[in-house]
Amino acid sequence: MTTAREWLGRIETLALPRTVKVMNVCGGHERSIAMAGLRKALPGKVELVPGPGCPVCVCPEEAIYQSIRLALDEAVTLVTFGDMLRVPVNVPRGEVRSLEQARAAGADIVPIASPLEAVAVARSHPRSKVVFFAAGFETTTAPVAAMLVEGVPDNLSVLLAGRRTWPAVAMLLESEAPGFDALIAPGHVSTVMGPEEWEFVPHRHAIPSAVAGFTPESLLAALYSVLRQLIEGRCFLDNCYPELVRPGGNRTAQRQISDALEIVDASWRGIGTIAASGYALRAQLAAHDASRLYPSFEDAARKRAGQMPPGCDCARVVLGRIYPDQCALYGRACTPRNPIGPCMVSDEGACRIWWASGVREPRAAESAKSA
Ligand code: SF4
Repeated sequence: MTTAREWLGRIETLALPRTVKVMNVCGGHERSIAMAGLRKALPGKVELVPGPGCPVCVCPEEAIYQSIRLALDEAVTLVTFGDMLRVPVNVPRGEVRSLEQARAAGADIVPIASPLEAVAVARSHPRSKVVFFAAGFETTTAPVAAMLVEGVPDNLSVLLAGRRTWPAVAMLLESEAPGFDALIAPGHVSTVMGPEEWEFVPHRHAIPSAVAGFTPESLLAALYSVLRQLIEGRCFLDNCYPELVRPGGNRTAQRQISDALEIVDASWRGIGTIAASGYALRAQLAAHDASRLYPSFEDAARKRAGQMPPGCDCARVVLGRIYPDQCALYGRACTPRNPIGPCMVSDEGACRIWWASGVREPRAAESAKSA
């Protein structure tokens, strides 16, 4: 097997005519890149840009607010993935601004790690109404769909904030300034949905692309592939994660998603509405759809896209417009202990990942590379 050092050696031999920006759209990729110190190891002409790869970061602010109000105002047990608990919403000072604070205020909120645990909580509390607040990309949404298809207890409903990754990349590519020259496509999403979903990137936009796994070796293989494509003037989707990414993806998971969910236009925090980028429960599952069961917590006045706390640059971080340490609050007002925006909360958020990798200060002046 080719080692990371060997891949780096191959990349160094490439004669890049200019600085090249390569975007990844996966928090797992960004974590591997940052923790392995790949940015510092690469030639100066290669920039790795983290893009919209964190589902917690793009979960609409109003969805989190609604889940907080549900937990506080309705007699329900709210279960959700642990990294949602600390994501802040924008409310006046003194009001409950996260699920963690709602829990401290007495709401019955249970952190879970999988949909199976949501079912277990509902089964163990048959007299309670249990709401599963489920935010995530395809890899998280697929098990939620499987849970619904297989049948859930009558007392379990789902408040779904599922998102599809490729429409966000398509939106970037259709903008005036996509901000990247090549794409490293997410391996885990491709495992479920099939690598074919990403073929539009080279075919329609002439952007070199490669699917990568999570090791430095796989990421560097994908990087080498897209850099070579750029130099040679070629464009295709290279599968650099063939161990798990197979043509067509996981048909069973896709069928379960299709059976339980429909594709809808969806709001992305800091970005706005992206066409066909979200999932909603199908009408036949209305009895388990929290958005239909608890209409009282919906507040039309809070239906606003792009809402970030004052000074927080998460929206531009998520879109790859700036690096995390280019936010003026990074490492000063905003740290994992005191997060201002969602990107510093989630393990998949670029700000949190950069902090964990040792980047502790905002960058002083414009420079090409950091972490
Ligand atoms: S450092 Fe904090 S405030 Fe700045 S973009 Fe990241 S999460 Fe938002």
